[in-house]
Amino acid sequence: MPPPLELPTIQNWSCHNCGGCCRQHAVQITEEERQRIAEQGWDASNGVPAGQPLFVWASGPPWRKRYRLAHQPDGACVFLDERGLCRIHARFGEPAKPLACRIYPYAFHPAGKRLALSLRFSCPSVAENKGRSVTDQRVDLKELVRLVVPDGVERVPPPDISPGQRLDWPDFSRCVEVLGMSLAGQPNDGSSISVRVLRSLFWVSLLGQAKFDLIRGDRLDDLLELLTDAAATDVAARLEDYAEPSRTGRMQFRLLAAQYSRSDTVLGSRSGWRGRWRLLQAALRFTRGTGMIPTVDDKFREVPFAALEPSFGPLPPQAEEMFTRYFRVKIQGLHFCGRAYYNVPFVEGFWSLALVLPVSLWLARWFAASAGRTSLTFDDVLRGLTTADHHHGYSPLFGQSGFRGRVRLLAKLDDISKLVAWYSR
Ligand code: SF4
Repeated sequence: MPPPLELPTIQNWSCHNCGGCCRQHAVQITEEERQRIAEQGWDASNGVPAGQPLFVWASGPPWRKRYRLAHQPDGACVFLDERGLCRIHARFGEPAKPLACRIYPYAFHPAGKRLALSLRFSCPSVAENKGRSVTDQRVDLKELVRLVVPDGVERVPPPDISPGQRLDWPDFSRCVEVLGMSLAGQPNDGSSISVRVLRSLFWVSLLGQAKFDLIRGDRLDDLLELLTDAAATDVAARLEDYAEPSRTGRMQFRLLAAQYSRSDTVLGSRSGWRGRWRLLQAALRFTRGTGMIPTVDDKFREVPFAALEPSFGPLPPQAEEMFTRYFRVKIQGLHFCGRAYYNVPFVEGFWSLALVLPVSLWLARWFAASAGRTSLTFDDVLRGLTTADHHHGYSPLFGQSGFRGRVRLLAKLDDISKLVAWYSR
């Protein structure tokens, strides 16, 4: 019997065969999957050129026998054909594909006795809300759950709220629910997603200072009500009322945005002394923040750092809707803390998630400036978010102490709110 599934009611998705995930992702496979695919008889007669390997070693020691699917010289998965379709799927059907390919863009996370479902906004169809309602796909999703957790959902404790401060699952879920409502906003309150993120940052950061020994159940409800009421009255609703980010905050943010701007997580990482030297030079330029932005990825053109700092005007209405859905899906799906996000506590996980907004908008400005524009189109913002979300929770770098320390420093300097306001205007 599969565990009950919590599905986001506001999200649609169907694959539109853009082939993006088959280019961006390093698909790890199990030994059983490797053998199964090896026995499928791939050669030039069915589209795999002679000499093209099907698998390469994934990271880790050789005795762990970890492989991933190989990529063609142009970066596409070895099984992606010229029409953008999967050759394994075409010859043997969807169940013959590796599990990782079958699951994407879904992500399942333990939530007490239930499984929470989130989606990866690195898929443009998810970001644009294209296709069938996710709730209408419950039957298919239950089948996937049987494959993902064949022995049932593992009972793991909930993530800490802040280091050492833990609630039980019902109280933790209450915090998640209130955060989701805070980001959704009240009907007709007219607030932008940026203001809702600012309010949420305010009360979540205060929650991080609480000691929960005696705060449970009704008392927790009272505390959450007090904090969210304070956020509604005390947080400035006009973005112009926020101070500019600090000098240190801007530098840390540029380094963070540089990591988000790359297409690769592990796959295609520049190796060798030449690649490392180029990365070091780029890091120094991002640290200084003057002159031209080094293009760490082919998607961008060189433009001056300064070109991204003036106001680019309000967000296009479609972008407002997309970010609102993004935050609600990630929060409901627990896709920001605990198991799903490098085991970080609730509060730190929300700081990281909130930073996706200014990072995506900074990237969107870079896309716009690369095309000579000084205002944003929806497509700029869409590309900004899909680029950023590709890493969020998946790039191993983001779980390391350097990245986490950067997020905590930005929170300590009170710069996360200032960055949200600065790049939203
Ligand atoms: S990125 Fe999304 S729409 Fe494109 S092929 Fe992958 S799952 Fe399909």
